[in-house]
Amino acid sequence: MPRPRVLYFFPRCRLCRYKVEEGDDAVVVSVDNYQTAPFTYRYGSSHVDRKWGRKIQCCSAPVQDIGRHEPAIGCHSRCLAFLTKLEPLLEFRSGMPLWPYTELIDRDSKPSGIDLIDALTKNSLERLYDVRQPAGGSIHPFSVKGFLHSTGIFRSVFARRTQCARSPIHRLYTTSIYWYDPPMSEDERRLRVSTDMLCDLLRTTIGRDCKLPTEIWRMIAAYLSLEYAITSLWTAPYRGESAVVLSEDIWATYVWIDGVAYVSSLSHDPNPDAKQIFEAGSQGENISFYIMEDHLGIRQVHISRTPPAVYSSSDRCVWWRVHPVEDMDAEFVFSSDGIKLQQLKMPSNGRDTKLRHIPANCSWSEPLPPSELAVLSLMRLNARLGVPRFLSFTINEADCTGYTACWIVPKHSKRGAALLRLHAHKPGEDQSFYQETANRGGDLVWTYMPMKSGERVDQVWCRHGNYSFDVTLALKTSMCRILAVGPFKTVDFTDSSSPWTCIAQLSTTGSDRLWLDGPHADGRAVTCIAGPMRSKYPKKPLPVHTMAASPFFKLASFHSSASLEDVKEIVVSRLEASSRKWISGMLFRYENGDETAVGDFRLDAAGKHIRVVKSSGLYLGMTKYSSRTHVSEMDIVSPNTGSLSWETFPWSGRLHWWFTPKTCYVEHSEFPYINGVIEVIDG
Ligand SMILES: [Zn+2]
Repeated sequence: MPRPRVLYFFPRCRLCRYKVEEGDDAVVVSVDNYQTAPFTYRYGSSHVDRKWGRKIQCCSAPVQDIGRHEPAIGCHSRCLAFLTKLEPLLEFRSGMPLWPYTELIDRDSKPSGIDLIDALTKNSLERLYDVRQPAGGSIHPFSVKGFLHSTGIFRSVFARRTQCARSPIHRLYTTSIYWYDPPMSEDERRLRVSTDMLCDLLRTTIGRDCKLPTEIWRMIAAYLSLEYAITSLWTAPYRGESAVVLSEDIWATYVWIDGVAYVSSLSHDPNPDAKQIFEAGSQGENISFYIMEDHLGIRQVHISRTPPAVYSSSDRCVWWRVHPVEDMDAEFVFSSDGIKLQQLKMPSNGRDTKLRHIPANCSWSEPLPPSELAVLSLMRLNARLGVPRFLSFTINEADCTGYTACWIVPKHSKRGAALLRLHAHKPGEDQSFYQETANRGGDLVWTYMPMKSGERVDQVWCRHGNYSFDVTLALKTSMCRILAVGPFKTVDFTDSSSPWTCIAQLSTTGSDRLWLDGPHADGRAVTCIAGPMRSKYPKKPLPVHTMAASPFFKLASFHSSASLEDVKEIVVSRLEASSRKWISGMLFRYENGDETAVGDFRLDAAGKHIRVVKSSGLYLGMTKYSSRTHVSEMDIVSPNTGSLSWETFPWSGRLHWWFTPKTCYVEHSEFPYINGVIEVIDG
């Protein structure tokens, strides 16, 4: 395989596992064991390491779609300097690969736990780098290493290392891989917990002779947080892969990392440190492996007929994989990164035939029974992206008043918009989600779909192009309405290149759940969506037809429309940015109690209700500047002309509101409805 030219540096130190921040000094250790000159990390920048002649690209967060490029093993300069002191014989030399580059890539595009433990390569390297240095040695008492040594952490390491011919340094690189970026709260928790642990350690060891206030010990502990993180991984005992059978009891051992327990091994050995997790013969047939994992590895393994109880399915730090057992006599092998287990290697006979349509690498925010997985229909909106992690979205709850889809529209792009999140509205809800939704380099658009009293969503349909920024969603309701939202680039709904696909036939009673991948709070778009097919796939296609042409030629735009008949009240959504104010959307409330929203309508930006009485029509005051148009004001009686360009719409027919984050176009049709996008009556 030809060596890729560009090294991708993700800002997560592979030694201390804390983020590399803008302006930090960093180095790259190559897979052929070459150390680059230090450089300053700046997001988006790239430079060529002169001596080595390779280009290093500084990226933002780890991305699964690294393509042909090589992920760099990047570290804080400070951390590598510290590690070099721990490993006196650590030399950086050329031509001695740490492990083959190809092993860093998910070869079968399947697991998140990459099998890095290549016994041949790894063992020979570990022998090469074995350090048989006795405890004590020449550790300066006032060095960082000496300080940590005084806490007692190192003594056990040196004692252990004389018996163990495996150098921990390479294990650091394999055990520090983050399979995805966890929520920011995880870094904060880590820092808090490890500072607390080191503070206690310092006070109970050095603190016996050196009395200092707790605050000072905390400051010292916080200062040593990177070194402490390296040391705690470096000192963890080596564990290889685990293999178990279900005809014997199974015991698990754990390793604690930053206050979190990870499964370090599974065996049939009931040693005093192990905890029994499975009793042979107690469960009968139809059992499954329920595996709880996070960005670092496996935290729990449950082997049972039913899923384990979960305290909180909203914890975005942990995810579950479900592997039904097909062959009770098979041997089940878990790969290890050297310290903790990473992944269940599926037996050669493969996956349960009922679950073939669900990729084995999917993980879920809670352990789902195989019976629920079996009815799920799954659609990838972007085929190139790797491991989906699904969060549930509850639909058709009794008190739900409507749904909002949030879209992210990339800046300077005509590609459309990606679905960022779905929200189900309830009376009296907290509306902070509008503010809390992260926005990664794009403009957000909120499309609000109020539901009628007693109306339910029966089917969810989706249509997508070649990438996740070309997605449209449609909800077919129990009142035969089709609420379709999303960017429309082509106006022909019969376009066979991106047909509508039904992704959920929901339960007709009670609430049900959709599954959207991606922890949307971090601003990444949904790339995979799954829903239950409670009945057979609908025979009829989604009855949406060709609609009027978008006024924004070749530019993906959102469309919405509302009837202007029997309007009782109007609510406008006003936004403000850079001293500019505009009406982003409007909600029409009708005499019969129904509601319809047009434009980019946010409930947290909604103004007071305007009653439509003695009105001669709907007046919209438009502002035009540099080819962009916004609705700046509205009225229900003829306004003074002023500086705005006013457009008038009669209280009949239908209002159409085309929009992008930058501009909008409002027009009127006399037809009570069109066979178009929003609110189509299924004939
Ligand atoms: Zn570091």
